[in-house]
Amino acid sequence: MPFDLSQLLVIGVSARALFDLDLEDQLFRREGLQAYIQYQIEHENEVLGPGAAFPLIGAILRLNSLVPEKRKAEVIIMSRNSGDTSLRVFNSLKHHGLDITRAALAGGAPLARYLQAYEVDLFLSCDETDVQSAVDAGFAAALIYPPPTDYSSALDAIHIAFDGDAVLFSEESERIYQEEGLEAFLRHETENALKPLPDGPFAKLLRTLSVIQNETDPSKPPIRVALVTARNAPAHERAIRTLRAWRVRVDEAHFLGGIPKAQVLRAFGAHMFFDDQHSHVEPASRLVPSARVPYRTRIIDEHEINKRPKAVSSELTSESSKTGEDLLN
Ligand SMILES: [Mg+2]
Repeated sequence: MPFDLSQLLVIGVSARALFDLDLEDQLFRREGLQAYIQYQIEHENEVLGPGAAFPLIGAILRLNSLVPEKRKAEVIIMSRNSGDTSLRVFNSLKHHGLDITRAALAGGAPLARYLQAYEVDLFLSCDETDVQSAVDAGFAAALIYPPPTDYSSALDAIHIAFDGDAVLFSEESERIYQEEGLEAFLRHETENALKPLPDGPFAKLLRTLSVIQNETDPSKPPIRVALVTARNAPAHERAIRTLRAWRVRVDEAHFLGGIPKAQVLRAFGAHMFFDDQHSHVEPASRLVPSARVPYRTRIIDEHEINKRPKAVSSELTSESSKTGEDLLN
């Protein structure tokens, strides 16, 4: 029987996001592809250390132990490496006990073209070109920043923190803030408080996470989601009403209004934080694994994106849920 990805949360992660390949990357930049290939083959049996995406990927794979025989997530290595240089990565997966058996090794070619074929819900990479192409094609994708130096997470549940504007929500209001200033932004958000914000690049992923939450034992939720936004009152209302209309589960909301995000993220214990602004991601990445969501460079036709989350049989779409209960608990 073919392996069906359509009912799974599928994460595509690059080798450099998952493992510490910093030295190897420097060698590649300094001495070129041949030197890099030679080095990887010679060091095939040397295990790679964890990279910035390692804690999140480990936590996501633990979802598969919740219900025996019912896999919930699949992680696929998506790398510009060739098959020949990938043995070190496979050996390292085995060493760390990561249940990852599938890989797209594009041999230097861009990866975005394969995201649809692998039914990827989230793409994490250290390659800015691949991430930009993925976001432009309508996928949730983020550029992984270097890992924090002093980070450990003993948490069983997956802790994910999302920024609001230009991540979960569209960049529409963010643009008003950037182009016309705070006063115009607050006026616009107050006037439109009852109108849900359009989907941002991570809206569909949040819906899929909510579906998984709803399928599991409520006394032991396997995922904890936090909204960590610079919005504060009076701009909070539209964000809350938008999540309510989407009928998604957000466990915590932090309306910071200028308070730095990094310490809040550390207290939350984020396995990963997603934000669109370098000025937020960079300081956060010193304390918790963090990734930047680039702006979409083209307008995406809504019909191009399958807005229905995976593994869903209920009517959990933004269109059908405008009267939904407040799940922002
Ligand atoms: Mg933002």
